[in-house]
Order: sequence, then C-alpha cells, then structure tokens
Amino acid sequence: MTQSIEPRSGILEIAPYQGGASHAEGVAEVVKLSSNENPHGAPEAAREALRRTAHLIHRYPSTDHGELRRAIGEVQGLDAERIICGAGSDEIISMLCMAYTGPGTEVIHTEHGFAMYRISTLAAGAVPVEVPEHRRTVDIEAILEACNFRTRLVFIANPANPTGTMIDMQTIEQLADRLPPHVLLVLDGAYAEYAEGYDGGARLAGSWPNVFMTRTFSKIYGLGGLRVGWGYGPAAVIDVLNRVRGPFNLGDPQLRAAEAAMRDTGFVQRCRAENARMRDWLAHGLAQQGVPSDPSHANFVLARFASPQEADACEAHLRADGLLVRKVGGYKLPDCLRITVGDEASCRRVVHSVARFKASAP
Ligand SMILES: *Cc1c(COP(=O)(O)O)cnc(C)c1O
Repeated sequence: MTQSIEPRSGILEIAPYQGGASHAEGVAEVVKLSSNENPHGAPEAAREALRRTAHLIHRYPSTDHGELRRAIGEVQGLDAERIICGAGSDEIISMLCMAYTGPGTEVIHTEHGFAMYRISTLAAGAVPVEVPEHRRTVDIEAILEACNFRTRLVFIANPANPTGTMIDMQTIEQLADRLPPHVLLVLDGAYAEYAEGYDGGARLAGSWPNVFMTRTFSKIYGLGGLRVGWGYGPAAVIDVLNRVRGPFNLGDPQLRAAEAAMRDTGFVQRCRAENARMRDWLAHGLAQQGVPSDPSHANFVLARFASPQEADACEAHLRADGLLVRKVGGYKLPDCLRITVGDEASCRRVVHSVARFKASAP
C-alpha cells in the first residue's frame, strides 16, 4: 500500500496567517503598532469583569451567550435574536465559509482584502477569487463581474484593512441590490466604530436577506487578547451558523468582559475621538516627510513609500528605534507600511523616526 494521509485539497495552499511583530532584536522596550490594537488598553470595567469571573472557571460557560447578545442588542439597537458570538470575528468568518461554501464553490475577496477570507475559504475546500480594487479602494463593478453560479460569499471590510479606505453606504446598497440572489454579502465591520457616523452595515444586515455584518471586540474595545467577535444578519443565516457553531465556543470570562466593554459607551466615544485626532496628526506628520497616505477611516494609516526597498528600509529603521509597524507585501502593497495610530507619544516617535530616516537616506 502506498496510500498516505492527505488533507482535503486546498488545505496545503493555505499560507499561515502572519501576526504583527511584537519583539525587536536587541530592543528591550518596543511600541507595538503592528496589530491595530487599542493603545489605551481595555476599559477598566472589562478588566474588573474578568477578575470577577476567576472563581467560575471550573464551570462550563453559557451556550447561548444570552447576556452578551442582549447587551449588544441594547447598546447597538439591534435584535438580540439575530446576533451570534464567536471567538473573534475570525470564527464568524470561518463559520460562514464552513456553512455556505465547499468544494465547487467560490468566495470573492478584493485585491488587498483581509487574509482570513482566503484562509477560511481554502479551509472549507472552496476557491478564493480575488478581484481588483481601484486605487486601494473596493470596486463593486469588479466584484459583480466576478460573480457566477459558483459564487457563495463576498467579503468586504469597510473600513478596509490594510488600506483604511471606505466605500459609502449607497455603494454598498447598490452592490447588495445587484448581487445574484444566491450570494451573501458579508460586511466586515472590525473598524466600523472608528468611522464617524457609520453603523458597520447594521441597518442593511437587519433588513436585507443577503447581507451579513461581522464585528469585533478586538479593536476599539481593546480586547484582542480575549477573542470575542459577533455577527448580525438575517434570521435564516443566524440559524445556519448556530448549527455549525461549537456549543462552548466562548468562555464566561470572555463573555463577561465583552459585555462590560459593550456597555462602556463612554470609553468607545473617547477612543474614537482620540484616534481621529491622532490619526490626522500622524497622517499629516508623515505627509510632511514626503510619505503620503489615503484618508484613513480606521485606527491605522497606510504609509506609502517611493518603492518596496524604501518601505523595507524604513520599517527596519523604525524597528531599530523600537517602533514595530506592519509590512504589507503579503497584501500586494510592498511599497507601503501599515502603522497603527498609537497614543500621542508613540505617534510623535513615529514621525520623528521617519524624519530621521528620510534625512539619512542617500
Ligand atoms: C482585526 C480584524 C478582524 C478582527 O479579528 P478578530 O478575530 O475579531 O480579532 C476582522 N477583520 C478585519 C479586517 C480585521 O482587521
């Protein structure tokens, strides 16, 4: 017998996800601006809720996440029955692919789209289809052109990562309207809270049969280490996802901390305002050094350099100064660096370091 143990086709095409760097060789204290984390940490109420659950960890957690779903529903003005919670929005993305795709089907993501769309698609045995963007912005005509009878899902992050760009609600509505009826549009709202006046697609996901929204506690809520995300959409989709969801996919400490964070609306407002202020400052400071960026609607700036070589050299320069940013060559943006908007001191250090880099360049 020469048979060997083989995974399903597609699995070995998955390039493992690369997280943001958190250490720099020879630098003791680093500022991590490589994973879009909240520089102000988690709300104190969430940390307190986590401490209060310590005596409960021998118990299995809730299977229906009722209290967290109610908190989200109340704060966001949504129907709690149409909310599902997961281990990060990554798990919601994975559940969508597991439930709606498989061999012989296709999933559309855009040119600079988030890596997990492709990874979860391949893991489900389906084919990821990449469509071009127009100047680092999602192009709905390209998406519609790529749709066929095999298409099952379309993933769009709005605001997008790593570009920080956004498309407006009218354009999203047009896309939802023109997609074939067998295609589910997934609006990834990981950065929705940073975009002034944007609901992440909640209204569409609440009223259209073919629109679903994902959200996360990892970014503005400051809980990336706890792994909590959620989804909202048509009742039929929620029902399907609940069938593939593991019954104990979230622990009580995660659930309680996320609930406290959701109810701390003042924290979110303060972080949104401070992020907007420092984002403008950072983008302007970089532009003055000859490093432009598209207007960002998220908590990072995509800094554009003259060449991939210059981007790499600047990344190394920043790293030597203890400033860790994200290389985005894997997102087809080799001449760019994604820099998380840190606190004021970090932003000042970044601009200062880039200025010295530019001054030292031949
Ligand atoms: C960070 C991010 C997420 C969130 O992932 P979690 O699993 O919730 O931590 C989702 N989508 C995009 C585009 C992101 O950048």
